[in-house]
Amino acid sequence: MIRDQATLDALVETVSRLVAERLIPAEAAVAETDEIPPAIIAEMKRLGLFGLSIPEEYGGLGVTMEEEVNVAFALGRAAPAFRSLIATNNGIGSQGIIMDGTPEQKAKYLPALASGEMIASFALTEPESGSDAASLRTRATRDGDAYVLNGTKRFITNAPEADVFTVMARTDAATTDARGISAFIVGRDTPGLSIGKPDRKMGQRGAHTADVIFDNCRVPCANIIGGREGVGFKTAMKVLDKGRLHIAAVCVAIAERMLADALAYALERKQFGQPIAEFQLIQAMLADSKAESYAARSMVVDAARRRDEGRDVGTEAACAKLFASEMCGRVADRAVQIHGGAGYVSDYAIERLYRDVRLFRIFEGTSQILQLVIGRNMIRDARR
Ligand SMILES: Cc1cc2nc3c(=O)[nH]c(=O)nc-3n(C[C@H](O)[C@H](O)[C@H](O)COP(=O)(O)OP(=O)(O)OC[C@H]3O[C@@H](n4cnc5c(N)ncnc54)[C@H](O)[C@@H]3O)c2cc1C
Repeated sequence: MIRDQATLDALVETVSRLVAERLIPAEAAVAETDEIPPAIIAEMKRLGLFGLSIPEEYGGLGVTMEEEVNVAFALGRAAPAFRSLIATNNGIGSQGIIMDGTPEQKAKYLPALASGEMIASFALTEPESGSDAASLRTRATRDGDAYVLNGTKRFITNAPEADVFTVMARTDAATTDARGISAFIVGRDTPGLSIGKPDRKMGQRGAHTADVIFDNCRVPCANIIGGREGVGFKTAMKVLDKGRLHIAAVCVAIAERMLADALAYALERKQFGQPIAEFQLIQAMLADSKAESYAARSMVVDAARRRDEGRDVGTEAACAKLFASEMCGRVADRAVQIHGGAGYVSDYAIERLYRDVRLFRIFEGTSQILQLVIGRNMIRDARR
């Protein structure tokens, strides 16, 4: 749903200008230094991007899902590290509070997340539980007016920068599955919480992940999301459903960027006396990439519209993320191929983007887990 086309167009136009004039020119330096310049962070805050999907009553822009994917189509053309900077505040870090938080929790955290004054992370994955997230082992043991958290979370995006974490932990020690899991809001300065060394990653330099370690970390009972035990895993899965649509939109955007770069190179590079774009085998790679990115864009918009209509899009979000992330990998591969040797050295963005986009097939549900989700949902629906 687009509430007001002119307002959305203006926002998308502003973001596109930011991408073209500030973000893309800064990409190589961000990859070199592993840091996003403070001036760019300040500009993204000024534009309200940290609060894109946080409701207006808490100071955000309160975009609908269809509006959000349109903004992601524009922002996602820049190196993924820039999106990652605002991703957790808008997505996995804040959505648990937005969807299931108490009025007090919303009032306390959302305004600071919307302005970017506070950074939020989402801590689900653990060393022994990734795809099988429901088997997580971090414990939250009730002790008077607090829960005592013990355990380690792994690969947590923006953990080195985060001020607050939404943490999934097991409150019912008798369970080993989703039923015993609750979600907590944990401030970074809570005694017993520490952050590991930032991970050295394949790509997306400028975006940071690290372990988050809880060692007898006392969290007030008031910080359990929604004020209830045992519903944390449901909260996490709702958050990921929405996140998958956002990631799918980003995959479309960066695929379109890589394709534009490959086309520009093919038009400029000459071999056998003519631009390589004239060769039909090059055109086949361009055409397949165009068709597939267009298909993914259409899926993302359709799923976003359905979500805005209030429909359950568990299957569609999984389909969109699966197809768009796999498509993005194929487009990245073809774009390197079209660049020839130049695609393998770092003079062109494609060498870096090829590594950056590899992540999209892994986080917020691997491709295999999405296949399982889609298959399981199909069988469930057939048996209804
Ligand atoms: C850069 C980065 C950022 C991340 N950010 C966050 C974050 O902010 N918060 C957070 O909580 N997590 C985060 N993650 C974790 C991410 O979500 C997990 O890495 C992902 O869910 C996969 O889990 P795993 O790494 O343990 O792999 P595993 O679950 O061990 O999977 C390994 C392989 O086995 C396959 N596999 C597993 N189970 C099955 C099955 N049943 N059938 C078929 N194949 C299967 C997988 O598809 C994969 O190919 C991040 C990860 C990275 C790398």
